[in-house]
Amino acid sequence: MAVADLQARLEKLKLVIDASELGGTFGPSTEMAIKAFQQRSGLDVDGIVGEATWKALVESSWSLGDRPLRLSQPFLRGDDVRELQAQLNALGFTAGKHDGIFGLGTAGALRDFQRNLAVDEDGIVGHETLRALERLRMVIKPGLGPRISEREARRADPPGLAGKRIVLDPGHGGDDAGGIGLNGQTEADWVFRVSAKLGLLLDGHHAHPMLTRGPYDGPDDSQRAQLANRFRADLLLSIHLNSHPTPIAAGAATYFFQGGTVASEPGEHLAELIQQALIGAGRADCGTHGKAYPILRETQMPAVVVEPGFITNPEEFRQLGESTDDLASAMLGALERYFSSEPD
Ligand SMILES: [Zn+2]
Repeated sequence: MAVADLQARLEKLKLVIDASELGGTFGPSTEMAIKAFQQRSGLDVDGIVGEATWKALVESSWSLGDRPLRLSQPFLRGDDVRELQAQLNALGFTAGKHDGIFGLGTAGALRDFQRNLAVDEDGIVGHETLRALERLRMVIKPGLGPRISEREARRADPPGLAGKRIVLDPGHGGDDAGGIGLNGQTEADWVFRVSAKLGLLLDGHHAHPMLTRGPYDGPDDSQRAQLANRFRADLLLSIHLNSHPTPIAAGAATYFFQGGTVASEPGEHLAELIQQALIGAGRADCGTHGKAYPILRETQMPAVVVEPGFITNPEEFRQLGESTDDLASAMLGALERYFSSEPD
């Protein structure tokens, strides 16, 4: 029984065991697999499962999501912790080296992540945090089926948000702060906050929201469009704020794709729904407009850019800061209407 357990753990690590030994026979291929594991783990390569090898094997058996991760004494160890550290570091949260030990550095990075993604800041990697990490995982298999038009795609889908692949694109990020308010607050930070909140709400409605960036990085618009295409998104919502040298400029505007005489009909429909929702949430109406921005031009799904207000208007930006959650809810309502309305 112990040998069978050992073999199952080795196989989970993609080490090959001969069929004739599986089920508990300790033969040459089992020993080879142990040696290979010891080699890659930096242990003495003797083919014997002593205490150190067994401990390493148990730690290697954990995958992210198998168990809740938190700061505890002694520190939790395992490949799931290593995976968490790698993901946090890749997103710009400094979790330290990928040592597979859940120490203070990892705990701090995790709380920073939870704060930024608007999930409960409990310091535990549970369901909510795993879903938030998932929303930032834009690494999707390439290769699409035959292209169908936007309109047909929408018609073919069952109505409602459930199962819809929705890309949220917080503008700017990384070295690009976007517009800057009087108090030094940045467009990049505000739009990330709204996007994170909207992602959380969409998740609660069983949609598949995905963010194009984390709080610290800033891919260019073509990269974001490619991510959305590869993700086979049903819809992309890019969130920005407007800027103007005149501090009294105010109001919300939404943009859909228009290049020359060609415009995206579903994009325009979506833009109107978003715009109505923002007006309903108390924003002044600066209308919907056709534009050929790269994020609208290079995406293969209906896409809009929304600017709920001006960061350069101190009063409006103060209101935006206070109503971040309401604006996210308003946009959620618009997306819900978009996916439930009959295509015309
Ligand atoms: Zn912007």
